[in-house]
Amino acid sequence: MGFWEKDIMYLKKVGPQRAQALAKEVAIKTYGDLLHYYPRKYVDRSKVTEVRDLRPDTYATLVGKLSHVHVMKSQRGRGRLTATFTDGTGNLDLNWFQGVKYLEKYLKTGEEIALFGKVSLFNRSLQMSHPEVDYLKDENQAMSSRQIVPFYPSSDKLGRVGLDSKGFRGLTYQLLQDGATYIQENLPPSIISTYKLISRQEAISHIHFPQSFGALSAARRRLKFEEFFFFQLLLAQRRGTHRASHEASPFKEVGHYFNTFYKEHLPFSLTGAQKRVLKEIRRDLYLPIQMNRLVQGDVGSGKTMVAFMTMLIARDNGFQSCLMAPTEILAEQHYKKLGNYAEKLGLKVVILVGGQKKAVRREVLEAMASGEADIAVGTHALIEDSAQFKNLGLVVVDEQHKFGVLQRARLWQKADPYPHNMIMTATPIPRTLAMTLYGDVDVSIIDELPPGRRPISTSWRGESKRLQVFGFIRKELERGKQAYVVYPLVEESEKLDYLAAVQCKELLEQHFKEYRVGMVHGRMKPEDKDVEMQLFIQKKSHILVSTTVIEVGVDVPNATIMLIENAEKFGLSQLHQLRGRVGRNDEQSYCILMSGPKVSKVGKERLQAMVDTTDGFKIAEIDLKLRGPGDFLGIRQSGLPEFQLANIVDDQDILREARKAAFELHEQDSLLTAKELHGLKWYFEQYKRKYASLSTVA
Ligand code: ADP
Ligand code: MG
Repeated sequence: MGFWEKDIMYLKKVGPQRAQALAKEVAIKTYGDLLHYYPRKYVDRSKVTEVRDLRPDTYATLVGKLSHVHVMKSQRGRGRLTATFTDGTGNLDLNWFQGVKYLEKYLKTGEEIALFGKVSLFNRSLQMSHPEVDYLKDENQAMSSRQIVPFYPSSDKLGRVGLDSKGFRGLTYQLLQDGATYIQENLPPSIISTYKLISRQEAISHIHFPQSFGALSAARRRLKFEEFFFFQLLLAQRRGTHRASHEASPFKEVGHYFNTFYKEHLPFSLTGAQKRVLKEIRRDLYLPIQMNRLVQGDVGSGKTMVAFMTMLIARDNGFQSCLMAPTEILAEQHYKKLGNYAEKLGLKVVILVGGQKKAVRREVLEAMASGEADIAVGTHALIEDSAQFKNLGLVVVDEQHKFGVLQRARLWQKADPYPHNMIMTATPIPRTLAMTLYGDVDVSIIDELPPGRRPISTSWRGESKRLQVFGFIRKELERGKQAYVVYPLVEESEKLDYLAAVQCKELLEQHFKEYRVGMVHGRMKPEDKDVEMQLFIQKKSHILVSTTVIEVGVDVPNATIMLIENAEKFGLSQLHQLRGRVGRNDEQSYCILMSGPKVSKVGKERLQAMVDTTDGFKIAEIDLKLRGPGDFLGIRQSGLPEFQLANIVDDQDILREARKAAFELHEQDSLLTAKELHGLKWYFEQYKRKYASLSTVA
């Protein structure tokens, strides 16, 4: 058994009682666990302050003497200990409410001490409660009182067995005394020198007892790098495994269909971002390895066109494609759009959805199986066993989060070798997060809207402005435009929410008597919902109230207003998604955020972010900052480890370096056989075992 696996019980000054508390309170069971129990903050004790310069709410180190120690016994025998400290520039009152018995013996007047603690103001005079006292004639104590001092997280229970922050400091000090030489390097010299890192032994020693703040930041950088690095190496390995086991047909040709469409039928010129992404896709398709590419782009950025042109490449190589959408309405819309384009090329597009008549369905299935259909658009129906292809070469999935990994894998089973895979999403994941998460998925970003698109004008209004807002909506309706009104649904009281939404609808009906107000909500039967949606699409209803997020991706270009009630109750990315329902043509569209009178600080930041920008990637970055990565993704499903020191929002530069280092290393020596990788390999094996339980995002 290695040094770091030793039971913490056997460390000097620990023993069974403390060991039990450590295990229970902070999950420290071994020497190694304690080694990686890092301080939560540091205070510089090397600077000595004088009493006359003290200010409340600061930490201070003082050097002087106790002039007076007094115990006040209360009736319940608990007692309080007070003392007066002096350094020649003034006096300071000290108080202790715990450990009085021990302190009474320990505290001596007249000897030189270093005092350290937080200064507070009480009854208009400065004082310190529970300061740390070190006798300067004791060499050991004298040393620690003149350093940058680590503060460890503790708890009441730990405090009771003497393991307050100071107690931890003692244990860790002891541990490093005995064991610093057992700290093994886990990065090869090449990486250490390329990225200018300090050694692991130095880093861990300095994270506990930094000699200077410079040393501390070097230690933090090294340890953060390491945290990112091993996770990235894991991703690189997963990517390697995935690629090795996912052969696909290479699409070497970019031929007749693609070129003819590009030259003769493309109704507009592609944006720079669309061209770039198409290039990335073509590079993938050229290889005999399955493409697995996530294409992110705001609503309206032209993802569908990119998908269609990718399908043309598939066709040029003799392969069929399919496009799976999350809802029937959306599948219909894609079908119409792609059908129009494909017609010009003499290609056949079919649609497969749940509610089709038997005869129609049979025909569609036959066209797919015989290869007569070049492109199949559909819903989940495409996954069913009855849906077979002659030679499926490309699967496009719209709005990835609606489908699970397993469902996609089932689509892949319909071709041998694997079809290439493209996922389109309008819910951007910030670059840094994508970088942290994805190994086997490559990410393309369409970060440019087609020219002429006017940014949606977004405003944030309080209840007092309701009449004005309604007046504004009326003007748009009079111009023949339509409006969405979204009412949030909070899960705990679905019924009440529903009633509130109905009231909202009634209010709108009263106010807009000459218009039809439709409504869709979560408890509606899908057929009824469809009817309401169709009425809106056909302009037979003018205002659509919705309690749920409107069918993802539904396209009603004539709607120019998105009014969101109680907007403070929505998350930022949800608000952005909702806003994306309007602004679908070259007309000016509006998003109005109504909020109640009480909005939390974070709520205000969200609404302000919506007003400030319409860029989905900026929104995603802000959302990530406001919520933190765990909450942003739901850490359980994310496959993201909980980094101890590193933070993907604040440490993006380190993340980038660590990712580069890890992927390069994997490229050079995927089996990690080089001699200098011995320590790394050993550490990585353990690391993988620890994270084996975390799932992959794909
Ligand atoms: P997304 O799927 O990303 O939401 P779409 O592909 O549906 O976006 O495109 C939105 C609209 O913009 C469609 O009407 C499409 O025809 C149009 N469009 C796409 N690319 C361009 C472009 N480069 N220039 C002009 N219009 C474009
Ligand atoms: Mg779309």
